[in-house]
Amino acid sequence: MDNRRNFIKKVGLAGALMSVGSFSLPSCEAKDKKSKLPLKLSFQEGIPPGKSLNEKFDYMEKLGVVGFEPGGGNLAGRVQEIKDALKGRNIKVSAICAGFGGWLLADNPDEKQKCIDSTKTILAAAGELGSVGMILVPAFNHQKSFPHTQATRDQLVADLKELGAYANEHKTQIILEPLNRREAFYLRLVADAAALCKDVDSPGVRCLGDFWHMTWEETSDRGAFISAGKYLTHVHIASRKRRLMPGEDGEADNYVDGFKGLKEINYQGFVSFECGTKGNREETVPAAVKLLKEQWEQA
Ligand code: MG
Repeated sequence: MDNRRNFIKKVGLAGALMSVGSFSLPSCEAKDKKSKLPLKLSFQEGIPPGKSLNEKFDYMEKLGVVGFEPGGGNLAGRVQEIKDALKGRNIKVSAICAGFGGWLLADNPDEKQKCIDSTKTILAAAGELGSVGMILVPAFNHQKSFPHTQATRDQLVADLKELGAYANEHKTQIILEPLNRREAFYLRLVADAAALCKDVDSPGVRCLGDFWHMTWEETSDRGAFISAGKYLTHVHIASRKRRLMPGEDGEADNYVDGFKGLKEINYQGFVSFECGTKGNREETVPAAVKLLKEQWEQA
C-alpha cells in the first residue's frame, strides 16, 4: 500500500514537473523570438512639428517613426494627398483615427445609420491607403444609447459583423477602442473589446489598447495585452497622468510591463502617439521616442 502511494506520489510529481516543463518551454522559445521584434512607432498628424505633411514626414523619418495615423474626417478627399506625401518613404499609414458621424449603439436609428454609412466611407479610403484599420468607439458617455444589456451586445455583434465584412472586402479592419470610464463606460477593458472580436468572428474586426485609458481601467498592462492576443492590432500611447508626450509625467511613464505583453503575443502592429505636450515639441517628441525605444529594449 505504501509502495503504491509512493508510486502515485512519484508519478504525480513527475506529471507536475512535465506540465511545468511543457508550459515554460514555449515561453523560452518565444523569448528568443521576441527580442528581435521591432518597435514600430507611429504618430498622429498633430504630433510632429511641421507645416505640411512632407515636413512632418521628413521629421518622422529622422526619428525612425514608421507609421502615420491620420484622422478619418474627410479621409476620402485626402487619399491622393497622403499617397503623394508617402511616396518613396519608409512610412506607412497605421490606423485611421475615428472621424465617423453618429454612433453605433445609438437608440436613434438616424444616428446609428449615420455611423454605419460614414464608417463605410472611411473604411473604403482606409483600404486604399493600405491602413491597418479604422478606430471605432461604439458609444461615448454623452451619446444616448441602448442600455448595457445582453440584447444590446447581441445587436452590436450583428452590426460589427456587417461592418467587419465590409472592412474585409476593402482589406482593412474596424478597430474597437476601449476608453476609460469618464469617456465611455460601455467599453473599457481591452479584454472585453477582444471578447467582442471573438464573438463577431470576422477578420475585419479587431481591437486596440490605449496606454492612457489602460492606466485607469486595467489591473495589468501585460495581462490586458496577453488576453487580447491575436485580436490586438493597434496600440495608442501617451504619458500616464496628463496624456502628454511619454516622459512628460516622469516616473509614471513606465510602459515596460505592457511592452513585455506585446512581445509575448508577438505584436506586429504600431504603437501610435495620441497625446499633447506642455513643452517644446522639438524637445518633447524626440525625448519620448528615445524613452520608448529604451523601455522596449528593457521589456
Ligand atoms: Mg486612443
